[in-house]
Amino acid sequence: MPTPKLLASETYDRLLKEKVPRAEIVRRLATLGVNRISIAKLTKLPLGYIDCNYPNARGKITQESVKAGTRKLITELDTAFSAFVRARDFKDGCISCSRVLSDRSNHSNQAQCGHFIKREYWPLRWDEGNCNAQCARCNGVHGLQGNYVGYYKGMVAKYGLEATDSLYFEGKLWNFGTMEENQKRNVRPGIEEMTDLILKYRDLTR
Ligand SMILES: [Zn+2]
Repeated sequence: MPTPKLLASETYDRLLKEKVPRAEIVRRLATLGVNRISIAKLTKLPLGYIDCNYPNARGKITQESVKAGTRKLITELDTAFSAFVRARDFKDGCISCSRVLSDRSNHSNQAQCGHFIKREYWPLRWDEGNCNAQCARCNGVHGLQGNYVGYYKGMVAKYGLEATDSLYFEGKLWNFGTMEENQKRNVRPGIEEMTDLILKYRDLTR
């Protein structure tokens, strides 16, 4: 008799070979009785993705579990993306004030991931050009709250005037229409897309 752990990993290898979609893999492993943490370890998939696809005791995936899983997925993507931006940019210093930054956590000059157009606008929340390393003082709510003028100047120096203004207008004008138009523009990436992004940015910062 194989142990449950061995059974799970053998099943996973087989499903991968059979090119079974990852959501289905999560469901099948769950049916074998493998818990969500073990599935995350085995498949390297984000926990939020597993929660979106993990059936409950009655074999159902509920709207509530998809909602909670999606919230977790957003946090996991914020974390993975922020690590990527900080690792990419810290050597350049703060984009708004040029302060020297560190890539170490708990350092007083630790780089933060600052959004040029705020995170509430989904299409640019995980945009590589829209996010750049900032110091805590420029980025923080208790500091300069984005140090926007400095950020704008830094963006022009880094990406050029045209690219900066194009982002600026997209981000500032998206909510000037009717509520319906605005909702159409401010669309969050789907569960599969966010999962791909998490895997990509985790891979890039490994
Ligand atoms: Zn700064």
